[in-house]
Amino acid sequence: MKRVCVFCGSSLGANEVYGRAARELGGALVSRGIDLVYGGGRIGLMGILADSVLTKGGQAFGVIPASLATKELAHSGLTRLDIVTSMHERKAGMARLADAFVGLPGGLGTFEELFEVITWAQLGLHRKPVGLLNAARYFDPLVFMVDRAIEEGFVHPEHRRLIVVEEDPNELLERLEHHRLPSLPKTIRTAES
Ligand code: AMP
Repeated sequence: MKRVCVFCGSSLGANEVYGRAARELGGALVSRGIDLVYGGGRIGLMGILADSVLTKGGQAFGVIPASLATKELAHSGLTRLDIVTSMHERKAGMARLADAFVGLPGGLGTFEELFEVITWAQLGLHRKPVGLLNAARYFDPLVFMVDRAIEEGFVHPEHRRLIVVEEDPNELLERLEHHRLPSLPKTIRTAES
């Protein structure tokens, strides 16, 4: 695992525990020699994360659409900043650069980015692990919803293993390094099957 793509809030969140988690994740990446790939902004948890990596001597790669470069205040001190033309290109660019994905607390944008890489793993479109850093148990309701979808027959039970959930950043990265993805591709069930 050489590069990890982190999805996280462009806000700081209501509790300082989220900023602390972003800082600790940055430290854990650098201490393991893993580069950061992220959305390229310098606001919210994105900024805290990137600053944490850079001040500890790590490498941070950003991918930002031109339309957001001013709104999310593109980080000017990154190892490399790719300016792209659309949100789709941003996600494709981040995914291409990374060997694994991590979600830190965030809002709708973070959810969207996370669920895209989870569903693509489900379809077998990539074989990169996905983890959630469950700071202050922020993601508990999201995991609960996935479990509910399994109970109600909308998600295959094997696909629960597509999401690694941990509260400690080092523990999370350790688990992602050794994670074995389920081999089962999603099959589309029709009313007749
Ligand atoms: P949020 O979690 O809503 O603060 O958003 C976190 C990051 O996700 C921000 O950098 C947003 O610009 C970004 N984002 C939101 N929607 C998308 C999308 N559809 N594709 C790529 N990035 C997105």
